[in-house]
Amino acid sequence: MSDVRNVIIIGSGPAGYTAALYTARASLKPLVFEGAVTAGGALMNTTDVENFPGFRDGIMGPDLMDNMRAQAERFGAELVPDDIVSVDLTEEIKTVTDTAGNVHRAKAVIVATGSQHRKLGLPREDELSGRGVSWCATCDGFFFKDQDIAVIGGGDTAMEEATFLSRFAKSVTVVHRRDALRASKAMQERAFADPKIKFVWDSEVAEVHGENKLSGLTLRNVKTGETSELPVTGLFIAIGHDPRTELFKGQLNLDDEGYLKVDAPSTRTNLAGVFAAGDVVDHTYRQAITAAGTGCASALDAERFLAALS
Ligand code: FAD
Repeated sequence: MSDVRNVIIIGSGPAGYTAALYTARASLKPLVFEGAVTAGGALMNTTDVENFPGFRDGIMGPDLMDNMRAQAERFGAELVPDDIVSVDLTEEIKTVTDTAGNVHRAKAVIVATGSQHRKLGLPREDELSGRGVSWCATCDGFFFKDQDIAVIGGGDTAMEEATFLSRFAKSVTVVHRRDALRASKAMQERAFADPKIKFVWDSEVAEVHGENKLSGLTLRNVKTGETSELPVTGLFIAIGHDPRTELFKGQLNLDDEGYLKVDAPSTRTNLAGVFAAGDVVDHTYRQAITAAGTGCASALDAERFLAALS
């Protein structure tokens, strides 16, 4: 079966490209589906990345991803800027189908499709991403020293982000569309006790303002319809993530929140020869370096699996 690859990688963020680099250097000639419109993953939508080790002065997100891509390609990874639209991972030889209907076959598959942060769905939101609008306090909090910041959401993540950000910020305003939080009692109490954090209840963001940088928000009270202005230079959106696992439902085991389950600390899924890495598995850390780390682990797991077949 000459057309059967050793390994196919689905996804092109830090997890997918790192898996590609390692499997390419192990002479496994990986075939990597990068995604049609989102090749490079989540960091393509940001500006400065200051917490990826090895870049003392930081690096722009797209440049970091171009470097990872080129490094994988240098060792022979075959990169295809296309989506996989269906998979059959249950047999010994796995098949994945691209948008043109071509079927690709492999002995091992690494899933690194990431997760999509939920957006507010407002016109200026994407444009101001990395310019005041953020989805990750761990990543970007440091850029907002002594500034006024809004956090949107009412769950544990929103409270964690608000409490973390209050270390740097002048003020943190939590905007929540209900009159009570969903977050655990302990998280709520921590946030309520923090003098820098205040709350705007029953409200949502109606508009995001700013030309090249966020300058403020218009809030709308969902009960009265009244609007008010909130002058902030930071907006952290913490309303959840959706792991990209639709393709794998019914084949790979998912947890209650839809993330792929692996036999941690390995990257093995419930199907032999199928491995998963990065944010499609991880709802705890969600960092480029942790995604790259599990991408490396998935490549080593796949390599060992293939070695045991021969
Ligand atoms: P992703 O980067 O999400 O990549 C997955 C990619 O897989 C998709 O983009 C797509 O191209 C591809 N894909 C998905 N489905 C398919 C399919 N069916 N077929 C083919 N391809 C597919 N982390 C940091 O450490 N530092 C930061 O400063 C930082 N800043 C961030 C800023 C923003 C705006 C965001 C959104 C995130 C930021 N993060 C940061 C988090 C970091 O980007 C993620 O943790 C990391 O990118 C996850 O990597 P991943 O490889 O698992 O997935």
